[in-house]
This record gives sequence, structure tokens and C-alpha cells, in this order.
Amino acid sequence: MDKKYRSYGFYIALVALVMIAWFFLENGTRQTTSYYYPQFVQDVSEGKIVSAVVNMNEQVPTGIVSVVLNNKEEKQIAVPDVNEAVKMLRDANVASIDIKDVPKKNWVMTILPYLLGFGALFIFWILISGQSSGGGGTNSKMMNFGKSRATMIDPSKKEFTFKNVAGLDEEKEELEEIVDFLKNPRKYTDVGARIPKGVLLVGPPGTGKTLLAKAIAGEAEVPFFSISGSDFVEMFVGVGASRVRDLFADAKKNAPCIVFIDEIDAVARRRGAGMGGGHDEREQTLNQLLVEMDGFGVNEGIIVMAATNRVDILDPAIMRPGRFDRKVGVGAPDVKGREEILRVHSHTKPLAEDVDLEQIARTTAGFTGADLENLLNEAAIIAAKEDRLYIKQVDINKAFVKVGIGAEKKSKVISEKEKRITAYHEAGHAILFHLLPDVGPVYTISIIPTGMGAAGYTMPLPEKDEMFNTKGKMLQTIVVDLGGRAAEAIIFDDITTGASQDIKQATKLARDMVVRYGMSDKIGLVNYDNSEDEVFIGRDLAHARSYGEKVASEIDEAVKEIIDKCYNEALTKIREHEKVLHATANLLLEKEKITRDEFEALFEE
Ligand code: ADP
Ligand code: MG
Ligand code: ZN
Repeated sequence: MDKKYRSYGFYIALVALVMIAWFFLENGTRQTTSYYYPQFVQDVSEGKIVSAVVNMNEQVPTGIVSVVLNNKEEKQIAVPDVNEAVKMLRDANVASIDIKDVPKKNWVMTILPYLLGFGALFIFWILISGQSSGGGGTNSKMMNFGKSRATMIDPSKKEFTFKNVAGLDEEKEELEEIVDFLKNPRKYTDVGARIPKGVLLVGPPGTGKTLLAKAIAGEAEVPFFSISGSDFVEMFVGVGASRVRDLFADAKKNAPCIVFIDEIDAVARRRGAGMGGGHDEREQTLNQLLVEMDGFGVNEGIIVMAATNRVDILDPAIMRPGRFDRKVGVGAPDVKGREEILRVHSHTKPLAEDVDLEQIARTTAGFTGADLENLLNEAAIIAAKEDRLYIKQVDINKAFVKVGIGAEKKSKVISEKEKRITAYHEAGHAILFHLLPDVGPVYTISIIPTGMGAAGYTMPLPEKDEMFNTKGKMLQTIVVDLGGRAAEAIIFDDITTGASQDIKQATKLARDMVVRYGMSDKIGLVNYDNSEDEVFIGRDLAHARSYGEKVASEIDEAVKEIIDKCYNEALTKIREHEKVLHATANLLLEKEKITRDEFEALFEE
């Protein structure tokens, strides 16, 4: 969006420049056109003049005469006496003589070009710096440059509540206690309970993170300060930081309240990444945010919420205790969730009897809440075009084609075959998590696309904090990583590209074992890893090697040996449990997301 504004500014400035240039040029040409006086007199007497415009100068009686000759030539001449020139022209019977009075010295006209120029620059500057969508008007924006720009939602309005958020039951449950805390903070402070200061909502776009945050404010009936991360990021160093300060000052005055920073990745990107300068502003803003979050007490009644779909690029510092120490994943909905979302959004849209929301939910795997809302909206438009007051199933089918076929959304419609492959892939991971002693147990298995490239995921319970990672555990982790591909290879004739992330992870771990932890007998207890020395050059940028070709190939061999061994183990273990593999995959295909209990029950059978 801001790009568009910037280009507007650019065009405005360009137009202004052209206008200024034209002004000066025009004024200039008028004086330089020369016409020799005797020649003029001769042309007049020979009747060559077709028309004349006489401009009087300020210093009467001099003036400027512009004439058009009968050969269409246009000429100008400064005359010593306008009266004389006019008389001459009249005597020669020139058809049209236009006499213009002494031009009033018009100060507006004199300074107009400058005004225009400055105005253009001014607008240009505002547009370039005003990166928000432009609400609030230019004026207020100018005055409040260092102000927070947060919008505050009045708690009494109760626009959104949990009722508006369909599905996401687990997420709502997790956030319930925050609502409760905001409602009666005393209940918690009296027993000395510590409530998280910051909650980070993580998930793909359109899954309802913003909606959820608004609903919390609505439920708790507290003020809700909402701002987007990109509002902090300005061209001018220091503005972002001052906005953060201002935002928190406002929040403190209104506690208990929620501060919601949407799209926090715009400010909280990993520091020190990338080359050289240009990030100073963002870093300052981020530092200020961290300072503010550390600055208020735990139970002061301010809860900072933030949303992002790029948790991978966030600076780890923001997730330290006392900051965003609570992370709530907001994923794309499963079948049941999709049906509920469709129900919520069809409240305002009358449906015909034949509309089967359950069936629509089944065929829209991978759709987010926003996609579903869009689908129903398209269907409503189609119905309206046909002058109907209700939506029929055919409208939805048409809308489905329309939204499903849009270039960007195309990938979202997942074929049955892809679903099957993903189901077996995840089942493979899950079985190994379950079988191997040092990893797992499985918490959830899902074949709902994450929107970040992964077709599904298998999530173990959060790890216990252990000081050391053991060799055994690392090997098992690699086996689990490769389990997805192993299952694919066992069940299908062909294998897919779906395992690339797994393979990358496994390889990295195996490599670390070899070059960092001295866990390969061949390589021995030597550290060949120098990635940590490169922070200042920029991550992922340079990988200077401090060892020769021979060592390099030995390392590669050792890594491959680990990977091969683990892959074989994965194959063997999954083959031994092929029945469970089928059962898990089938259950996944039916429910899209299964819990630990459901999964473990399959093992029992
Ligand atoms: P995000 O912030 O995660 O990108 P939003 O909260 O802005 O997504 O959601 C965009 C729109 O999609 C919402 O306004 C709402 O209409 C719809 N939507 C998304 N998730 C849900 C949900 N769980 N229940 C109801 N509507 C949803
Ligand atoms: Mg959002
Ligand atoms: Zn995988």
C-alpha cells in the first residue's frame, strides 16, 4: 500500500517540477524573441501583419507587441512607444489588434510557482512518511508524527466477542484466563499469580488472529489499543521509538487494557541480520518496545498482544520471559472449524434449503476463515446478480470455482491424492515419535496446510528443559524427521517433494553432530563449525571454510552415514507397524487433526 502512496507523491512532485520549469521558460522566451524594429515597421507598412497583441509594460509607454505574419510566423518585439505602434498598426488596417493593459504586479502569481513547488515537496514528504492507510487525514498525521497512532476501541461497544470467532476452541480456552484476569485482576494478584505480560498469536494470514484479539478486548470489556507493526517503521530514525513510548504511556493511563500490535514482524525482525545499516530505525523501535515491556510491572493490568505469520523471522529476544512469553498458535481450521466458521458467516446471509455447509467444509481443506468468508461473500454476490434473496448451493459451487481458481488461491484447493500422501507422511512421523523413547510423545497430528509451505505437521509435547542433548536423542530426532519420507516410500510407488524441510532439518542436525559436538568417530573431537563467528557479516551470507577439501569430504561422508542409518531405521520401524500407519492415515483423512489420545488408542488396537 505504501508503495502506491509513494508513487503518487513522486508523480505530484514531478508535475510540480514540470510546472515550475514551464513557468520560467515561458517568461524567458517572451523576452528573447527578437524582431528588429525597422523590419517590424516595414512588415507593418507592407501589410504583412495579420493580427497583433499589444502588451503595455509597467514603464509606459514601452510595451511588447506580438504579431502573427501572413506567412503564419509569430514574432515579438519590444517597442519604445506603444501608442505609436498601435497607430502604425491601425494605419496599416491590421484586422485584429488586441491591446492589453499594464499587467498589475500580481504577487500571487509571482510566488505561485514557489508555493506549488513547496506544496509538492510537502505532500511528497507526508506521503512518503505516512505509511498507514491514510485514515485520519494528512493534517492530524502531521501533527502527531511521534504519537502512537494506535486506534482505541471503546470497551462499551462490545463489537466483537468470542461468539464472532468460530472454531479455534483451544485457542479461545487458552486466552480465557487472560480475559478473566483483565476482568478481575485482584482475584489473581491476591494469590500472587503471575499473568503473562505478552501473548503472541502465531499463524498464517486470515486465520482470525486480529479477530481473536478484538474478541478478547470485547469479552473483557477493557480498552483495546490496536496498532500495526508497519506504523512504527518510518523513514525517520527515532519516530518509531517515540511512537512506542507514546503508545505505552497511553496504555498505562487506561489500564487494565490490551495493547495489540498487529503484524509485529515489521518491527521485531531478528536484529543483526542483513548487511550494514538501514535497519537502525527498526532496531531502535524494537529496543524501545522491549524496554517498555520490561518496564511495567507484571500485574499492572496491561496485556500486550501481538500477531504475526512469520514467527521464524522474529527476534528471539521478544520471546524471553516477561515479554511475549505466551505463544498461541492459530492454525487453519479443521473440518469442524470450517463448518462453524461457515455458520457464523452465513448468519447474515439467508441460505436455501439445499445448501450443505458440512459438505462445503469437507471440500475446502486448507481454507482459512478469511477464505471461507470470501467464499460466502462471492456466493452472495452471485445470488444478488440473479435477483435472489437467498444463496443456493449452486451459487456456492460457482463461487468456489471463482475463489478456488484465482491464481494465488489455486494451491489452497488440495486434491484427495495430496491429502492422502500428507496423511501417510505425518502418520510416519507420529509413529516414530511414539516408538522412540527419547522423543515425543505426540501432541497433535494435523494434515491442515499451515499456509507456510507445510502440508501438515506432527507436534510433540513441548520439551522439558534439559541442559544437554544426548547423541541418542539427536539420532532419534533424525529418525523421526525422516519418518515422513519413509512412510511415503513404503506406501506409494513415488515419493514427493513434501519432505524437503524434514530432510533439511535432519541434515543440519546430523551435520551439527559431526562438526560441532564431536559425535562422529571418524571426524573426532574437532569443531569445524565456524558459523558463530559470522554474526557481524550477516547470517547465512558468508560461509568461509576453515578446513580443506579432504576434511570437507570426510564430514560429508560422516553426515551421510548418519542420515542413511537413521533412514533405514525409520523404514524398518514403520514397516513393523504398517497397520497403525494405515489406521492413523485413515483417521487423519477423516478428521484432519487428531489428538494424542486418539492416536495412542490406535496403537492399543
Ligand atoms: P489474521 O489477523 O489472522 O490475518 P483476521 O482476524 O484479520 O485474520 O481475519 C480476517 C477475516 O476472516 C475476519 O474478519 C473474519 O471475517 C474471517 N475469519 C477468520 N477467522 C475466523 C474465525 N475463526 N471465525 C470467524 N471468522 C473468521
Ligand atoms: Mg491480521
Ligand atoms: Zn514431514
